[in-house]
Amino acid sequence: MAASDSARVLITAALPYANGPIHIGHLAGAYLPADLYARYQRLQGRDVAFICGSDEMGVAILMRSLKEDTTPREIVDRYHPQIKEAFDRFGMSFDHYGRTTSDVHRETSQDFFRALAAKDTFTLTAEEQLYDPEAEMFLADRFVRGTCPVCGYEEAYGDQCEKCGSSLSPKELINPRSALTDATPEFRETTHWYLPLGELQPKLEAWIDAREDWKPNVMGQVKSWLTEGLRDRAITRDVPWGVPVPPDVAEAAGVAAEGKVIYVWFDAPIGYISATKEWAQAQGTPDAWKTYWQQDDTHLVHFIGKDNIVFHCLMFPAMLMEHGDYVLPAQVPANEFLNLEGRKLSTSRGWAVWLHEYLDDFPPDLLRYALATTLPETKDADFSWTDFQTRVNSELADVLGNFVNRTLTFTHRFFDGEVPPLQQVTAEEQAVLDALAAAPARIGDAYDSYRMREAIFETMQVARLGNKFFNDSEPWHTRKTDPQRAANTLHLCLQLCAALGVWLDPVMPHRAARLRAMLRLTDVRTSAPDAPASDRGWTAAGQPLLPEGHAIGEAEILFSKLEDDTINAQIENLRTRAAEMEESTDTPTPDTPSPEAPYAPPKDQITYDDFVKLDLRVGTVTTAEPVPKADKLLRLEVDLGYEERQVVAGIAEHMTPEEITGRKVVVVANLQPRTLFGLESQGMVLMSEDRDGTLNVLAAKGENGAVVL
Ligand SMILES: [Zn+2]
Repeated sequence: MAASDSARVLITAALPYANGPIHIGHLAGAYLPADLYARYQRLQGRDVAFICGSDEMGVAILMRSLKEDTTPREIVDRYHPQIKEAFDRFGMSFDHYGRTTSDVHRETSQDFFRALAAKDTFTLTAEEQLYDPEAEMFLADRFVRGTCPVCGYEEAYGDQCEKCGSSLSPKELINPRSALTDATPEFRETTHWYLPLGELQPKLEAWIDAREDWKPNVMGQVKSWLTEGLRDRAITRDVPWGVPVPPDVAEAAGVAAEGKVIYVWFDAPIGYISATKEWAQAQGTPDAWKTYWQQDDTHLVHFIGKDNIVFHCLMFPAMLMEHGDYVLPAQVPANEFLNLEGRKLSTSRGWAVWLHEYLDDFPPDLLRYALATTLPETKDADFSWTDFQTRVNSELADVLGNFVNRTLTFTHRFFDGEVPPLQQVTAEEQAVLDALAAAPARIGDAYDSYRMREAIFETMQVARLGNKFFNDSEPWHTRKTDPQRAANTLHLCLQLCAALGVWLDPVMPHRAARLRAMLRLTDVRTSAPDAPASDRGWTAAGQPLLPEGHAIGEAEILFSKLEDDTINAQIENLRTRAAEMEESTDTPTPDTPSPEAPYAPPKDQITYDDFVKLDLRVGTVTTAEPVPKADKLLRLEVDLGYEERQVVAGIAEHMTPEEITGRKVVVVANLQPRTLFGLESQGMVLMSEDRDGTLNVLAAKGENGAVVL
């Protein structure tokens, strides 16, 4: 069933983990597509609840607090407001943004747990687990350290060795010790509740098989989990941070409830329900959440990144099915991953663009637009700062901004700032009216089918059409030779601008509002959660919105171009931070390549002209020496024949100064110099990077200064 056939649309976006800020990978994976969809549905006049919140439970937050010698509460109280504020500034239009430390969430999760326990859904299993006698607590995998049985690394975790990448269980560690107290842990028996997913698999499989319109990347992952066979999964654990297991359930089962909490994978999705309850309470209709979650004519959509597919397509549906009172998701349009400048995003390596930092430098709508046009909808996609600049300059400024500006300026100069009459419509002009009328269904279909990139492209096509029509109609001539033609041209261009004021609202809500203000276009529906009702919404914008004689407001510049310096500063920042993080990190890099390590994604095609801009030269390394305080860098002097260059290269971990001295290398000779650790690097030495991160300096032949073609 499509959203348009449903009584209401319930939209969730993955709960971000409250132990760090939001970056562009999160935005492209779940948040921006969810917001585009919610805003579009509101413009269609549909009944929408758009729900999200911070995931504040779980061992990662506990770990973080121990590392920083503080409390989990302090960690989530720091990040929850930071995330919420960044989302607000970005224009995320949640109806409610909750948090899983709320009382409502605790009660809702416990009620859910209680309901499943009452139906005998769970199984109980007693097992031996590691216990720290000094801290008097059971140790989750990450709280146990010891020697890796595979490679001998002494700081391996209970679940994984970060040196060799092996997956481990705490029992396999040699000389295990508690990460909390350093005490030697002992085995103690403890009892846990399990969700018997193995038993539930046939039911889930039947439901999955009936999903006809789910994305292939989502179905592929779900089917492979099912083929492998679902394993029963613990839903409780012994850690001091989480939603407590309901004491009455524990008592009935004869298990001591103390210290037992609900596993975060189980309580987190219930966070969608509890946040909806909080929203309903705030509206003064405390039972309204049931309408959204429990009535069959709700269209429930979970927006998530691909790392969350198994939880939203199998585990949460299994929980909802077993409970019995809830609707199941109609769609889970998970996205793939976003890379940054051709490399995998990595917060620990500092390779990310943080939302709150971006917003200090640029307006939100530029990133919304640039990301919306590159969403990883079917495969991984790449964000680069130069692509961002191109989108802003060549699409927003040159196409959209230019069209709006010339239309409004011309109207002020030659038509007293009023919408001229449309009379004696020609075939060309009728074609514009027809295109306007057809656009809402075409763009809307893309949104309704979760093809956001296409929806944004088709929206921009309206501006492209407007620019072309303005050019072809040449109103600067016809205003003298055939005034009615010029009047018709401007009338139609103004109607296209007005329609864009509505249709751009999902992707650029702030700029769309400015455009509507310039046109003095009022009494249209907007995509804000609390927008006043209006009959003039998504579809109505396919008909002329501005009456003849309507006085428009002043024209302003809607988009300014971004300078090269501005963009280069961002790239420089990114590189510098990544270099600093690499310096300070104490995490070992794996010695052996992980067999699943992905190849770097292919880059966009370039023209031959792009290629010949590179000045590649053969040079000989005459001197090489370490850079003080920078373990990864070497300072090289390279003889290019016609001059000597100083190059700072990040190869110190792969090559000694002696090994590289005297070698012939390829140098990018016309790269803008940049400063690293106080040294100016006047070029770059070409290297290859294996999938495990090994760098190899490329060997060159020929005389110094020879051009590489
Ligand atoms: Zn190891």
